[in-house]
Amino acid sequence: MIVVMQADASEAELTDVVAALAAVGCRVTRHEGPSTTLAAAGGAADRERLVDMPGVAAVRDDAAAPHATAGARAASTSRATAGVFEIAGRPIGGDAFFVAAGPCSVEDPETMDIVAREVRAAGAVALRAGAWKPRSSPYSFPGFGEAGLIALRRAADAHGLLVVSEVMDATQLAIAVRYCDILQVGARNMYNTPLLRELGRARKPVLLKRGLSATIDEWVQAAEYVASSGNPRVIFCERGIRTFEPATRNTLDLNAVPLVRARTGLPVLVDPSHGIGLREHVPALARAAAAVGADGLLVEVHVRPDDALSDASQTIDTATFARMMRDVAALRGALARG
Ligand code: PEP
Ligand code: MN
Repeated sequence: MIVVMQADASEAELTDVVAALAAVGCRVTRHEGPSTTLAAAGGAADRERLVDMPGVAAVRDDAAAPHATAGARAASTSRATAGVFEIAGRPIGGDAFFVAAGPCSVEDPETMDIVAREVRAAGAVALRAGAWKPRSSPYSFPGFGEAGLIALRRAADAHGLLVVSEVMDATQLAIAVRYCDILQVGARNMYNTPLLRELGRARKPVLLKRGLSATIDEWVQAAEYVASSGNPRVIFCERGIRTFEPATRNTLDLNAVPLVRARTGLPVLVDPSHGIGLREHVPALARAAAAVGADGLLVEVHVRPDDALSDASQTIDTATFARMMRDVAALRGALARG
């Protein structure tokens, strides 16, 4: 059971709640975040009695992810729509459609500049590319590291774009925060709880990809690690899950979009590139994501996709991206969401 305290609960009120839980045999751990939460294990806590205690905001089952939802509520107090927040002045959630586009890996500075110019012209808000790449083989290209982040930031700034890039472990965080507006957690790291906790202390929003075979509940709980450590600005990104189907790289689970949004109120993006893994079908999946109500897209785009340093087979060219963006805008217009 999780007891969420009110943001202005006093220390005395907290002590009373801890004592009430201990008195019925619960082991209590305290977590600081936007508001303090008390996790109670074992024992026979009386939910009705706890809800009525001074300073208590809510009492939930462990799986209810109180901070992720509380984070959405906190973000929405000054805005009309739940789960809307701003990233360096650019809105995400609500009526906004947030598109991050760029190569899988950071490429050379000239290529990055052309991609940035083209995706911005087509309506992207952010430039995405990995400087540290999680690769299946230890012999594959691992990314350019900090030099890549410098090139990424420079290209984004030249064309008025935000920067999204992946942080693979906590030691990279201090470097990444200098260059990124949004810190990406890759699918392979969704269960890396020490990293999630560190990102909870970062002052930048976190784009949390769904694990390769993570359930929706596990994914929301991963967001909870970030939010309960003090950072409520979590953006979910559905990127496909592993199923029995080998015809596509992954199976894009669009069920997750309405489910996760309803449960947390936080923005949910869709990555159709990793979702299907086949470049010729990426635009169709992007349209489907828009139709199901996604808050935006994360798409792999390159000027010469065949030359991309990684994920070439799922990377679309800039002209295809521009066409896809026009179709998505038309679709959203028809659905009165754009
Ligand atoms: C990526 O965005 O390039 C990436 C590595 O994605 P994922 O973690 O979803 O595989
Ligand atoms: Mn990729």
